[in-house]
Formats: sequence, C-alpha cells, structure tokens
Amino acid sequence: MKKFLFQLVVVVAFASCTVLPHEKKSSESLAHLKTDVAILASDAFEGRAIGTPGADKAAGYIRDRFLRIGLRPKGTLGFFQAFSFIPQGHGQVHQVGDSLKMGKSLVKEINGKNVVGYLDNGAANTIIIGAHYDHLGWGDENSLWTGERAIHNGADDNASGVSAMIELARKFKADKSASTNKYNYLFIAFSGEEKGLWGSNYFSKNPTVDLATVNCMMNMDMVGRLNAEHALSISGTGTSPEFENWLTKNNKTNFKLLFDKSGIGPSDHSSFYNMGVPVLHFFTGQHSDYHKPSDDFDKINYEGLNEVVNYMYAMCVEMNGHSKLEFTKTIDPKPMNSSFKVTLGVMPDYMFSGEGMRIDGVKENRPAAMAGLKQGDIVVRLGTNKITDMSSYMEALGKFNEGDTTEVEYIREGKSIVGPVIFK
Ligand SMILES: [Zn+2]
Repeated sequence: MKKFLFQLVVVVAFASCTVLPHEKKSSESLAHLKTDVAILASDAFEGRAIGTPGADKAAGYIRDRFLRIGLRPKGTLGFFQAFSFIPQGHGQVHQVGDSLKMGKSLVKEINGKNVVGYLDNGAANTIIIGAHYDHLGWGDENSLWTGERAIHNGADDNASGVSAMIELARKFKADKSASTNKYNYLFIAFSGEEKGLWGSNYFSKNPTVDLATVNCMMNMDMVGRLNAEHALSISGTGTSPEFENWLTKNNKTNFKLLFDKSGIGPSDHSSFYNMGVPVLHFFTGQHSDYHKPSDDFDKINYEGLNEVVNYMYAMCVEMNGHSKLEFTKTIDPKPMNSSFKVTLGVMPDYMFSGEGMRIDGVKENRPAAMAGLKQGDIVVRLGTNKITDMSSYMEALGKFNEGDTTEVEYIREGKSIVGPVIFK
C-alpha cells in the first residue's frame, strides 16, 4: 500500500513537473511579452524618437526591467551608454535651431542612449542579444503616414523585439539546468536605429565587452507579426558555417524559414558584422502598418512572438554545447531600392563628422572592394567631385552610370591614395 502510494506520488509529481510548469511558463512568458509591448508602445512614450523625453522614459523602463530580472549594468553610466550624433546626408533632416557649428553646416546634435544589461556566467565568451527601442515619435522623415500628425507607437517596430529580448534575459537568468550558462549574455536596447543604426554603430566602436570574446550577435527587429504561413526571415545565416544547420535542427514549431546569408541588412546586426562578429537577424516580415501610427499593440501576434523567443532560446542551448563560433564573410547583394544607378558597395560610417565619407564596411565583390578600399578609409573624391560629407558623396554617386570607370581618392592612415574604380 505504501509502495503503491509512493509510486502514485512519483507519477503525480512527474506529471506535474513535465506538463503543468511548462504551460505555466508559456503563459508567464506571454503575460510578460504583452505587458512590455503594451507599455513600450503606449502613448506615454510618444513613439520613442531618439533625443525626446519619450525615448528617455522608454530607456528608463527597460533599465528597470533589466534591474528587476537581476542583470548587471554594463553601460558606461550604469545601464546607460550615452552617445550624441549629428545627422547628415541623404534622407536626414538638417535641423537648425539652437545649433552647433560643424564645418560649413549648422546642424543640431541629437543625444541618445543605449541600455545595456549583462548576465555574467563567468564564461570566457559572450552572446549579444539586441533590439532597437527607438521609433519615429510623432512621425519623422521616415514616416509613411500622410494623415494628421499622430504618435507612431511602433509596437512591431520594435517594441516586439525589445520585449522578446527582455523575456530571453528573464529566461536565461531563471535557467537552473545549466543549459545556457557556458556563455555570458549581453542584452542591448539600441537607440537611433531609425536614423541610421546610430546606437549599434556607437556600441560596436565603443564596446563594453571585448568584441574578440563575442560568440555572436542576435538581433530582433519587428518580430511581432508572425503570419498564417508562419514565415520567419533570418539574415546573416552565412556569417558562421553551422548557423543554417542549427537553425533548421531547432525549428520545432515549423517556422517557414527564409534564410538570407548576408551579414549586411537594414538593422543593428550590420554594425556587428562589420566588426567581424557572426550575426543572426530575426524578422517576421513587412506589413501595411509599417512606419505608420497603426503599428500598435493590438496587432501583435503574441503567441508568435513567444515562439520566436523559444526558438532563439533553443539556439542558445545549441550554442552552449559548442565552442566559440567561426566568423565567415558573406557576399552581399546590391541594394534593391537604391535611387542611384551605381553604388560603391560600402556602408558609410554615419558617426563620422570629419571631412569626407568614412567607410564602415565593404561589401565583397563590389566596386569599392575591387578597388582595394577597406573599412576605415575616408573617401574624399570621386572623379572630379570633391566629397566632404554624406550629401556630397550621394550627389557624386548620382553622376555615374553602370560601367563607368573613374578615379577614387581616399585617405588611409593619414595618407592620400588615388586609384581606379569601376562601377559594375
Ligand atoms: Zn526597426
């Protein structure tokens, strides 16, 4: 009788640990995700535009969440890493007001901050998980809204990614099974992404962990609209040899996976790829509310968002069983929506405020790479066109056609170099 009772107790206990806590965990995750998206996308934060009180409030909220989870501060001022920026170039608004004189143009400096939290497992290497928290405020030059002035709440873009990141932090911290502790984790909420990856660019140049010890950077930008086809786009899959195998193997909820090998794309992972870090970027796809006030919390697929969280968690469990990843360069495609007939195939350094256009990354097999240009080179002339900043660089590019050969002058380590470049 006793024995039977004991067995019964064991069976009940076993059943309750396998089924019930799992269900409890899932609904717990859903509740956290819903709360965080609702708060970050609320009108109180006024669309979280960099340099506004709304963005500061959002940064404060994320810091408080990191604190409550038990992460350690890993910014330069507690959890915060402040940076300032002078907008320049194509598509940027040159604001003149209480201005700062920079070179010939009067432009207003914009101040932003990243929020950085650390889970220190005493490991040699670190996995970075990031998502930008800034959005378009009341609508800026990147808004696609033509109606009355309104708050762009940015629930999918990118309260979804930030909430998923916070939930991952909570899950790693709560992991008692040691299945994720062979790496440390650095969680970064970036600002200034919408203006041109400012926050991630700044962090990658001023990292608070040694980038040589970073295993990989996983980015989420718009992961809240998983559709009926279950399509999940993942970029950067070519930046380390095992990525595609592991992503396929750990796809337990039948995502329709769309792989893009390139490490360069329109979000913060590019800043890390340019520094030689393997990257993965998660995205549930484009929609008609993109960059409009209608991108709001009620349109988010929270079950889908939780599936992305679980998938990324599974990838970290996978990486826990392997040594530090190898980095591979990828062949990066020509930008599709470029208004220019030609490009150099470089990523400009938008943080650079000196004379010329400093290169932040060079795409393989594109004109700049073929001409021998490298990261850090400052382009000062294309043909007869002097290049002083981003606008003059864009203007100069507009003067060439595919197939043209011209001369490029650039500064490398203080010395001027002139060579041919072919636009093809
Ligand atoms: Zn975004």
